[in-house]
Amino acid sequence: MVDANVVGSGPNGLAAALTLAKAGLDVVLTEASDVVGGGLQTRELTGPGYLHDVCSAVHPAAVASPFFRAWGLENRVDLVTPEVSYAHPLDGGRAGIAWHSLDRTVDDLGRDGREWRRFFAPLVKRIDGLVDFTGSQLLRVPRSIPAAVLYGLRTLEQGLGSTWNRRFDGEAARAMITGVAAHTNHPQPSLTTSGAGILLAAHAHAGGWAVPMGGSQSIADAMVRDFEAMGGRIRTGTTVRTAADLEPSRITLLDTTPQMLARFTELPARYRRALGRFRYGQAAAKVDFALSGPVPWTNAQVHLSPTVHVGGSREEIVAAEHAVEQGRVHERPYVLAVQPSVVDPSRAPEGHHVLWTYTHVPNGSTADVTEAVIRQIERFAPGFRDLIVASNTISAVEFEQHNANYIGGDIFAGALDLVQLVKRPVVSRVPWRTPVDGLYLCSASTAPGPAVHGMNGWYAADVALGEHFGMRAPYRE
Ligand SMILES: Cc1cc2nc3c(=O)[nH]c(=O)nc-3n(C[C@H](O)[C@H](O)[C@H](O)COP(=O)(O)OP(=O)(O)OC[C@H]3O[C@@H](n4cnc5c(N)ncnc54)[C@H](O)[C@@H]3O)c2cc1C
Repeated sequence: MVDANVVGSGPNGLAAALTLAKAGLDVVLTEASDVVGGGLQTRELTGPGYLHDVCSAVHPAAVASPFFRAWGLENRVDLVTPEVSYAHPLDGGRAGIAWHSLDRTVDDLGRDGREWRRFFAPLVKRIDGLVDFTGSQLLRVPRSIPAAVLYGLRTLEQGLGSTWNRRFDGEAARAMITGVAAHTNHPQPSLTTSGAGILLAAHAHAGGWAVPMGGSQSIADAMVRDFEAMGGRIRTGTTVRTAADLEPSRITLLDTTPQMLARFTELPARYRRALGRFRYGQAAAKVDFALSGPVPWTNAQVHLSPTVHVGGSREEIVAAEHAVEQGRVHERPYVLAVQPSVVDPSRAPEGHHVLWTYTHVPNGSTADVTEAVIRQIERFAPGFRDLIVASNTISAVEFEQHNANYIGGDIFAGALDLVQLVKRPVVSRVPWRTPVDGLYLCSASTAPGPAVHGMNGWYAADVALGEHFGMRAPYRE
């Protein structure tokens, strides 16, 4: 019998496996794909020499994560922190630029600069309190009450239609906040989009929006090296359906969907019904481009930013996101674009570039969004189309074939709304624990939700170590 099985090798499965191995347990990690990493995979999707992140590309959440900090991410992976965290091109060659430096952002924003500082400076100052508040399950007393209250007030302001236009007058500041909040894939304004957007925007001026040299896979590879060095064993190409597919173990942690958990073993009827009520949100459809040169953005400063929010004004992004909620893709969609090769030339052959894009589509959509994405980028970067050497499209349904956790193409592994921030996947002070002795769920479908921070995996490992081995988890800050 082994001490622990971990199923699924996304950042949460890897964080759990590393934590358990570091505690001295004999751990087996089983992964359905031939490649380890889940949402951290990087592949040559368009041709030899072009390295594309299949899922995650930019890592503010990893840099701020208590697990990754304690593990030593910044010493183990070559991360670049760009001088611009995100850029937001607007018509007429204008752009909103979120510099890593708050001062520089304030200077560029003209009349809205003063309010940008008032809004973000106190949040940046309390970034560790914000990370603590948002980085676990919400049913507990936050370590920093002032940080939680401040964050709550800011979230209310930008999450309500009656107040969100009061603070900023200019198109750029409003569009910047809306563009960053749109990561959440939910109609705006809303409290969840606002909360997630404000946290990300605060990270932009705190730790920054780091990009790993060589792609996100380099994070997974470093975790695997460390895990194997501690004696951990990995089985790839093995889809786990039930407990019978695994060696017997004292504990099992699933970096999978709640549905997979419901099939894995007998569960009490009440808990099974609660899992059945877990809902999925709208989806993403992705297009990766190999380019013969850099994207010809009209605004020169957009060239400096790996992350670009393409969608125009606040009103346009609101319309595009509402269309998705109504079951269609807007002709001018919100496009989240990442051009990692502006800071990492290793991603493409010399002089060439890669561009990672996705847009929001209804859950289960089979739409190929390539043309809509190209048109939207052309609007702010005329001549973009002529640079395309090759492209690769992943529709929403294909995302689920690539990774079973992304049901219908929901890349957050469960709708992100107020209810499911608390009920992830069930309402509990220990949402990683299941009613079955020794069985835990540790994926992004649990608290504290999606993104590459590994905290779901670390918390599940911490609870399992305490309950079955009488230990506290290592990698505690
Ligand atoms: C297109 C896209 C862009 C994103 N961009 C970012 C970003 O820039 N920054 C960021 O922080 N986050 C981003 N995310 C979100 C982030 O990637 C996820 O939240 C994160 O990867 C979730 O980690 P996880 O470990 O819970 O699951 P995953 O990373 O999804 O990994 C789950 C793993 O479990 C395996 N698995 C599932 N079921 C089984 C089974 N039955 N048997 C064996 N193996 C199984 C899967 O194959 C997969 O490898 C993005 C996601 C996508 C899809």
